[in-house]
Amino acid sequence: MPLHKGPDQHDQRLMSVNPFYGEANPVGGMTEAPPTHRLPDAPLPPSTAYQLVHDELMLDGNSRLNLATFVTTWMEPQAGILMGECRDKNMIDKDEYPRTAELERRCVAMLADLWNAPDPAAAVGCSTTGSSEACMLAGMALKRRWSKRNPKPGARPNLVMGINVQVCWDKFCNFWEVEPRLIPMEGDRFHLDPQAAAALCDENTIGVVAILGSTFDGSYEPVADLCAALDELQERTGLDIPVHVDGASGGMIAPFLDEDLAWDFRLPRVASINTSGHKYGLVYPGVGWALWRDHDALPEELVFRVNYLGGDMPTFALNFSRPGAQVVAQYYTFLRLGREGYRAVQQTTRDVAGRLAERVEALGDFRLLTRGDQLPVFAFTTGHDVTAYDVFDVSRRLREGGWLVPAYTFPPNREDLSVLRVVCRNGFSADLAELFVDDLRRLLPELRRQPHPLTKDKGAATGFHH
Ligand SMILES: *Cc1c(COP(=O)(O)O)cnc(C)c1O
Repeated sequence: MPLHKGPDQHDQRLMSVNPFYGEANPVGGMTEAPPTHRLPDAPLPPSTAYQLVHDELMLDGNSRLNLATFVTTWMEPQAGILMGECRDKNMIDKDEYPRTAELERRCVAMLADLWNAPDPAAAVGCSTTGSSEACMLAGMALKRRWSKRNPKPGARPNLVMGINVQVCWDKFCNFWEVEPRLIPMEGDRFHLDPQAAAALCDENTIGVVAILGSTFDGSYEPVADLCAALDELQERTGLDIPVHVDGASGGMIAPFLDEDLAWDFRLPRVASINTSGHKYGLVYPGVGWALWRDHDALPEELVFRVNYLGGDMPTFALNFSRPGAQVVAQYYTFLRLGREGYRAVQQTTRDVAGRLAERVEALGDFRLLTRGDQLPVFAFTTGHDVTAYDVFDVSRRLREGGWLVPAYTFPPNREDLSVLRVVCRNGFSADLAELFVDDLRRLLPELRRQPHPLTKDKGAATGFHH
């Protein structure tokens, strides 16, 4: 449902209003039923309008049982209070809200330090609405740097990445007319291969994207090996290809739990990094971050200036107006947790993921693709000898208990493989994980007894479900 179309027949209906809800009309008198897809003619009392909207939203799933999303579904009440206090602040009004602007600047400085920028004072960065916007900005910087290298007339820029990239990179390539060069999956390799990436590069490659970690299975891509392969390419051919690390999730896991892993600005080839503040940054939806190693990595002409206390302040964003509350919530969380707090929270989440993966494996029917030891995320599929049901049956049946666990087919060259994926987040406790395994265990006898997919529908047996 990417775009909403106009109303159909079904949308002509009126809402039903419980007699209790009509504030102006005490019980017995009905508030006039408002239409659902047309602006009502007259206002409603606020309590009636509130109750109608509230009731309809009851049908949304319980976000804490949503094991599909990476996005934060629980914050402390204090964060909620601060966000409420800032809901009227527009991030772009740097002049009007200089303290909010200052908190954004501090967050960028903290991330530059966390990601080991060689000179944190030289690093530049900004908040965004999420990683998608951050990736668009980073991709634009790469493209502009390429065009400043005076490509041949008519040359078409390309971006090299694993086929497992998140959809925002397809968007970037489509919107900014860049050719995507995708490295397929092969065998048990479900993400980018450094040698294959280097082999796809040419003089029109604007950069290579490495993902920390992959949304398909939670694995970290080998950023350091990729940089080494590109160093070698440069020695051989003179091509100097920058790397962008899409750390939407891992950018806030690895610095706390995998400190020895060099994936960030410690690698000179890494030009820029993004993360989603609203994933493992532990903030409610609406905030991401993009950072560049130094001014050379972000062409100056892409940066706009807005009025700021009589002076001007550089900004880089797709939007103009944007909520300030999420940025404030990010700063609150940085201040509140510190390195130790983040480490404790992320370690707990990764412990839950690791234990849960083991428990799922111990059920006997499933084969783990990943174990939740990089991102606190694991993917698993049915064992080779399981023929009575597939991962799509499991996903459907888990939904009956309120658990949202997505099942999907892998991209080329592993379209033969379909998996389930569990994303563990802060707030998904060891106790909830136990309940999840109990529910899954209870389903297995029934799943094993269901009609064999080969006899049910020959097409379904291939695992190609969409
Ligand atoms: C989630 C994700 C994105 C998109 O991030 P949003 O914050 O949802 O816009 C991009 N890349 C990766 C690897 C992701 O996991």
